Parts: sequence; C-alpha cells; structure tokens
Amino acid sequence: MASSRSDGSSSSSRRPVASIVLYRVGPLEYQPPVMCGCKAKAVRWISWSIDNPAGRYFKCRNAQVGGCDFFAWMEKEQLRQEEEECRERLGEETQRLEAVRTELASLRENGLEISKELCALKIGIKRWRLRNVLVICSVACVFMLVVVLFGKK
Ligand SMILES: [Zn+2]
Repeated sequence: MASSRSDGSSSSSRRPVASIVLYRVGPLEYQPPVMCGCKAKAVRWISWSIDNPAGRYFKCRNAQVGGCDFFAWMEKEQLRQEEEECRERLGEETQRLEAVRTELASLRENGLEISKELCALKIGIKRWRLRNVLVICSVACVFMLVVVLFGKK
C-alpha cells in the first residue's frame, strides 16, 4: 500500500495523474475558510499522531512567528464530506480502470488474431516461393531435355 505524505516533495517522474487522495492540497487550499484570532485564514494540517491519524486541524499560519495560539480540529461533518468525495473519486477511478482492462483484453484478442493472420501469410509466402522454385526447375529440365534431344543434330 502506498504511503501518503502531506509535504508534496515526491520526485516521481510519472505523468501527473489526479490522485484519489488529495495528498498535495496546500494548507490554505480549503473551503470554507476558518479564521484564526489574527482575522486571517488559518492553515489546515494533517495530523499523523497515533491518537489522531489523518485528522485535519487548523492552526494560525503565523503560529511560529508570533501569531495567535488558535487551534481547532476539522469538524466531523466536513471530514465525512471529504471522505465521501474520496469514495466517489475512488468509484470513478475503479470504473475507468475497469474500462481500460476491458479495452486491453480486446486489444490482446486483436493482437492474437493479427499474429495468426501473419503466421498464415508467412506460410503462404513460403509455399509460393517453393512453387516458383519447382516451376523454374521444371522449365530448366525441359530446356535441358530439348537441348540434349535436338541440340546434337
Ligand atoms: Zn492567528
């Protein structure tokens, strides 16, 4: 199972695909805004503590440089809503994956058919070449016979 990170410092070289789990949502990219004591939009972090794994909480964005001591857990209803959205995305991704699997199976079947046709064509070409060699040999034999029979006169 993939580990999730909230710092967004992955060095993956794969093409960007919309993730089912929103790992890379910035701490200020949420709605509706929650305001701290400084009347500024609070940052939302993800807790990875043993007691609150994956719990979202809000904190003053300037907490470490003299801001206020605002702290609040994300409300359960909002958390449930995000979970629901994740489930919906998971369902959509699963359907898309299933469609790709079906297409892949169809392509494999087509590939197999093409491979069979190619084999049949190769056999046909070999037979045709053999037939040509036989015709040329026959003509040569007839020519030699004619030369031997009528060439001495
Ligand atoms: Zn504040």
